[in-house]
Amino acid sequence: MAEDSEKFEKMKAIKDEILALKESPLYSYRKENNFSPVIGEGSHDASIMFVGEAPGKNEAKTGRPFCGRSGDILDELLESVGIGRLSVYVTNIVKDRPPMNRDPLPEEIEIYAPFLNRQVDIIQPKVIATLGRFSMSYLMQKFGLGSDSISQAHGKVLEASMPHGSVKLIPLYHPAVAIYNRTMRQTLEEDFKILAQFK
Ligand code: URA
Repeated sequence: MAEDSEKFEKMKAIKDEILALKESPLYSYRKENNFSPVIGEGSHDASIMFVGEAPGKNEAKTGRPFCGRSGDILDELLESVGIGRLSVYVTNIVKDRPPMNRDPLPEEIEIYAPFLNRQVDIIQPKVIATLGRFSMSYLMQKFGLGSDSISQAHGKVLEASMPHGSVKLIPLYHPAVAIYNRTMRQTLEEDFKILAQFK
């Protein structure tokens, strides 16, 4: 099988498994509201993979990651450093929407994280940029990088090792922090400049 269609098939298997994931605490909420799981979107050969938190309402309605207000900000930040959204891969650690946009719970992260791990293995990115503290904490732990607060870790380039080679883990604030906060927007803009060298 050509590498492209192999990656596509592996991603599709992930989608099918999540669609049928009755063990998830978010499964019945998804079904009751006619929401979709949000698996991820973008290039399967991306150098840069973004990992957010969990789908919001727009995302759960459309099945697409970062397509609401936070997505607009993500798009603007990408554009500011000349990175096309189609050239990266965007996903979340939790694939179904938590009610009322609440933070994901540890048991939700635990059930969905193996899918994220499989996506990282499929894409084999050079850079994983986390958006927000939940994906940062999970991936720092996974790579044996300890723990840190996002206010300390944002904008740092951390070195991790994976079977496919070395990966840079770059913690970033979640774009939603910039919605009403000009200073955070500037911090995000500065941090995104680091990504330009990996595009
Ligand atoms: N916030 C996230 O963390 N992910 C999305 O897909 C949308 C908003």
